[in-house]
Amino acid sequence: MKVKLRNPDRTELVDGPMNVAAVLDRLDVNPETVLVICDGELVTKDHVLPADAEVEIRPVISGGAGPARCHACERTAVIEIRRHGAAYCAEHLIDHVRGQVRTAIDHLSMVSYDEWVLVAVSGGKDSLALWDVLLDMGYRADGLYVGLGIGTYSSRSEQLVRAFADARQATLHTVDLADEYGYDIPAATALRRRSSCGVCGLSKRYVFNRVAVDHGYDVMATGHNLDDEAATLLGNVLRWQTPMLARQSPCLPARDGMSRKIKPLYRLGERETAAYCVIKGVDYVVEECPMVAGNTVLRYKDALNELERHSPGTKAAFLFGYLERARDRHFPSDEHDTAEVVACGRCGQPTGVREHGRGDPLCAFCRTHDRVLAVMDEPRGGAPVGAAP
Ligand code: SF4
Ligand code: ZN
Ligand code: ZN
Repeated sequence: MKVKLRNPDRTELVDGPMNVAAVLDRLDVNPETVLVICDGELVTKDHVLPADAEVEIRPVISGGAGPARCHACERTAVIEIRRHGAAYCAEHLIDHVRGQVRTAIDHLSMVSYDEWVLVAVSGGKDSLALWDVLLDMGYRADGLYVGLGIGTYSSRSEQLVRAFADARQATLHTVDLADEYGYDIPAATALRRRSSCGVCGLSKRYVFNRVAVDHGYDVMATGHNLDDEAATLLGNVLRWQTPMLARQSPCLPARDGMSRKIKPLYRLGERETAAYCVIKGVDYVVEECPMVAGNTVLRYKDALNELERHSPGTKAAFLFGYLERARDRHFPSDEHDTAEVVACGRCGQPTGVREHGRGDPLCAFCRTHDRVLAVMDEPRGGAPVGAAP
C-alpha cells in the first residue's frame, strides 16, 4: 500500500494487508498524534487496510504540524525530550542541562564551591559535557584521563581530551596504563576469568581513586548518565546483586581511603549530553570502543530503549523510583554492604577483607594486575614461560 505522511511530506510503501495500528508501528508514528484516512474515510486502529490501499497519515496535534517549538521561548526546537514532553532550542537545551545538573548537585549535596573535583574524562560525550558544565558553573574541576592502549580509539580520545583541556585552560592529569602498570586493555583479552571490559573498569576505578587521594581531591566525578544508571540498575536487579543495589547512588560518601564519588549527569539522557556537546562545540570521540562487544550494560540499554520507545519516561521512573522510594527501604547499605575494608598489602588502596584468602590482603586490582602480567609472559598457545616443550 502507498502511505502518505505529512509535515514533512513523504510517501512510504508498506506491504499489506495490515491493520492501521501495525502500519503506524512499522512507520514509528505515535497513534495519539495522527488521523488515518483511507479512501476519504477516517479509519481506526483495528481497520485492515488492503494491499492496494492509498492511505494518508495526517498529524493532528496543535503545534505538531511543522517543526517542534522550544518549550521555553517558542523558537524552532533542536531536540525533543519525550519523557519531559518538551522540546528545546539550542540556548534552552544548555539551560536544561545546567538546570538538571544544578538539581542533582543541590538535591544530594554532591559538591560545594570551595571543594576540588576530579572529573574522569574518557573523551566521550558524557565526561566532556560534565567537565564543561562544571567549569561553566564555576566549580573547581580538574580532569583525569587514563590511557587504555586501545589503538586509534585511545589515541583519538586522548587527543580530544587534551584539546578540550587546552581550550579551557584546565588542569589535566594523565595516567597511561602501559607506562605505569606494564599492561594495556588489549593484553587483558588473554585472561580467561575476566572480560576486557571488567579489567578496564577495574583499572579505571583504581587509577581514578589513586590520583584523587594522592592529589587531595575532595570529590571524584564521573559522566554516568540516566541511561547508564538505569541499565546498571536493571543488571543488578536481574541478578539480585544486593550489595551493588545498596551501593547504587549518584552520590557515595567518602569512606576508608576513598573520596566521595558523584554522578551529576544522572538526571540527563545520553541524547541530551550529545546534543549539549554539539551545541557547545565540544568535540568528542563519536566512534565506539572496538572492545565494546564484551560490555553487558549495552544489552540492558537496548532493552530499556525498547521500553522507552513505547512508553517515554520508563527509564527515569525506574531509576528515580528506585533511588527515592525503594533503595533505602529494601536495601539499606548497613545491612547489604557489610564488607570490612582494609588496606591492600601491596599498594595500600582499600579492599574488602572478604576478597582475599590467607596471607597479606591484595586488592582486586593488584590480583588482576598480576594475572594480566602473567598471561603476557606466556608464549603463544598458553604454555608458561620455561615449561618443557
Ligand atoms: Fe573499556 Fe570496555 Fe568501555 Fe572499551 S567498552 S572503554 S574496554 S569498558
Ligand atoms: Zn528556547
Ligand atoms: Zn593493591
